[in-house]
Amino acid sequence: MRQDAYELLGVGRTADERSIKKAFRGLARELHPDVNSHDPEAEAKFKAAAEAYEVLSDPERRAVYDRHGWDGLVSGGAQGGHGFGSFSDIFEAFFGGDPFGGGRGGGPGVIQGGDIAAEVEISLEQAARSASVDVAYDSVAPCERCHGNRAEPGTPIEACERCGGQGQLRAVTRTAFGQMVRAQVCDLCGGEGKVATTPCTECGGQGLRAVRRELSVDIPAGIADGQRIRITGRGHAGERGGPAGDLYVVVRVAEDERFLRDGSNLVAVVDVPAPAAALGTEVTVATLDGEETVEVPAGTQPGTVVTLSGRGMPTIDRGRPGDQQVVLNVVVPRNLTPRQRELMAELRDSVTEENMSEAASDSLLSKVRRALR
Ligand SMILES: [Zn+2]
Ligand SMILES: [Zn+2]
Repeated sequence: MRQDAYELLGVGRTADERSIKKAFRGLARELHPDVNSHDPEAEAKFKAAAEAYEVLSDPERRAVYDRHGWDGLVSGGAQGGHGFGSFSDIFEAFFGGDPFGGGRGGGPGVIQGGDIAAEVEISLEQAARSASVDVAYDSVAPCERCHGNRAEPGTPIEACERCGGQGQLRAVTRTAFGQMVRAQVCDLCGGEGKVATTPCTECGGQGLRAVRRELSVDIPAGIADGQRIRITGRGHAGERGGPAGDLYVVVRVAEDERFLRDGSNLVAVVDVPAPAAALGTEVTVATLDGEETVEVPAGTQPGTVVTLSGRGMPTIDRGRPGDQQVVLNVVVPRNLTPRQRELMAELRDSVTEENMSEAASDSLLSKVRRALR
């Protein structure tokens, strides 16, 4: 036996339209599945209450129900055809929006300001140490003349005629649940409820102006080319009390001709004349901390890499800094003078297999031995 519609809503058989509506509203808040996830029956109860309300809120259907009960309505559509949609649909239709009164702050028509992207270029050295850089950018800001209220100073601001100062327009529609009221932002005043009689001459009544702004931005050490820094609230101004957008500073790290950057490692290439590499020498290498002397042992081969541990870029998370790698580019002399040719020829003729093989101390075996020591 299906439960009585009046009982479902908890009202008497003579209840008027208003108390029926009030009863359903109270039940709906109580039974809404979103706030009753712990009660598996809430959804079914809510649906039953909604069906009862659908019948009792319609005078014709209520009369049929009073005479014949649920059976009289089976063909009338309570069971088929209507379809309740999701519960939030019902709520939106019935309560006109968020059923629990939450939602965004501010009045109707609040608009958050847009985000801005600005670009700044720094040197590799600045990227290695934290830097403070001035960033200039264009943004929308409240008009200084009218302070954002859109009216020429000294002129009145009047209540909007279209919405009567409410900022909202209400549209009434009839649905299965009776009269539904929907609110929308007034298109004349944009939700403010007020209209300037004489628009501000500076901003043309927009309340906003484009301004050039400059900001000092701290760039953390170790930043990579193309990384962005977000500065909240420094974007375009919001409208109608809305918050400002954000500023994104895109950091470009200029190339440094002395180094290649590979993540947190730096790579530098140093030319070493072949005879000097054969005899052993020292070379001067640029580092982020100034010049450094690097030992080149006798017999150094082209492409040998010397690692200066911890001398690369810092990491943004302040982990272990990278290394600097020095690639020894052994260069064979070109454009020889006659005397140099003589010396080279003499050297060539004296080179033996012994000169070409690795020194005993540099053999693979001894390297492995050293690594295991
Ligand atoms: Zn203005
Ligand atoms: Zn209005």
